[in-house]
Amino acid sequence: MPYPPAERFAGVSYAIRDVLGPARELERQGHEVLKLNIGDPCKFDFQPPGPLLEAFRAGASDGGYGDSQGNPDAREAVAAYERARGIAVDEEDVIITTGTSEALGLLLSSVLNPGEEVLIPGPAYPPYTSLPLAFAAKAVAYPCKAEDGWAPDPEVVRAHITEKTRALVVISPNNPTGSVIPRPTMRALCELAWEHDLVMITDDIYWELAFDEQPTSAGQVDGGPVVVLDGLSKSWLVPGWRAGWMAFRDPDDELSDIQETVMKQARLRLSSPTPVHHAIANALEPNAPHVKEAVDRLRTRVDLVASRIEETDALRLVKPKGAFYAFVGIEQSGGRDDKTWVLDLLKEEKVLTVHGSGFGQAGQGHFRMVFLPPEDVLADAMDRIVSFAERGA
Ligand code: PLP
Repeated sequence: MPYPPAERFAGVSYAIRDVLGPARELERQGHEVLKLNIGDPCKFDFQPPGPLLEAFRAGASDGGYGDSQGNPDAREAVAAYERARGIAVDEEDVIITTGTSEALGLLLSSVLNPGEEVLIPGPAYPPYTSLPLAFAAKAVAYPCKAEDGWAPDPEVVRAHITEKTRALVVISPNNPTGSVIPRPTMRALCELAWEHDLVMITDDIYWELAFDEQPTSAGQVDGGPVVVLDGLSKSWLVPGWRAGWMAFRDPDDELSDIQETVMKQARLRLSSPTPVHHAIANALEPNAPHVKEAVDRLRTRVDLVASRIEETDALRLVKPKGAFYAFVGIEQSGGRDDKTWVLDLLKEEKVLTVHGSGFGQAGQGHFRMVFLPPEDVLADAMDRIVSFAERGA
């Protein structure tokens, strides 16, 4: 190859979209495929909230660049939203980004030198594994187990800390497991991070989408510094707007050099989309009514999925406490690995899910499905999945 690409990207993959190729091939052949692979509520019967849409439409007439950090009124709205759930940040602590994805890329690249490590949950949302590779750093997964309800064990996390570890990521509710980190565990994880001077990063994108009690964010745990990642994609039902932010809860100003490094990068990309700044400034509010509606719907749907799985010995599930993913254990794989199983399910039943190993080694032997579709569609999907799983031995 006369033009070799940068070698750093050789290990980069994104399982959630990687499975789309075979699904598209089936569609080309005239089959209808039920896609349960992507966490996008807008693909089903969820609509963005009216006031947010109106604020975006009004803001769309502003075609200019926004402030690199985020327009001040948008940052003030984000800070108020975060403060309302007990996270002590001000407008200058907030950076508005092109989705939470951009926030995590800007942050991790501002923390990690080549060869350094970030601890992430295993299983976890794939960019946490892949993005560090782009800057020659490394994600190290602290494995979580189904038997523990997928909650992290602080002692396991401690055992994975090396002299190269610079940051600890927690995601609660988690993608792909829907697990919530219990409050005492979250405190223990924060203490661990502060004890070792690790940047504590909490991905709260599903925080509002919890079915029982409100999850604890690391940003609500008193003590050292925490960086909160959050955004509009999930609980505000606009993933395509690419609207996110990070907020530095940094009582003793220990992260200011990292925040400035994030800002150096943020200036290089000028700004995130300006209409989103206007939408945030004028419509973001805590306890918005559409969130309760969405959670009520999701609760019914997760109950449906869990009860169907309970009836069969071929599958197993730790019932998710939040988000909109079921991470299902394959009990009768017929000797296949989880990716082959998922591709066979697609071929035979035309239902697209994601193989568990795509979320890291700890996800092997599982698949992830979204439970976003309305009940009739979901019931049909479960019929097909259960029937396939029971044939699978
Ligand atoms: N963080 C987690 C845990 C996610 O599951 C996702 C998307 O699925 C994201 C971040 C990406 O969010 P955004 O759409 O804001 O980039």
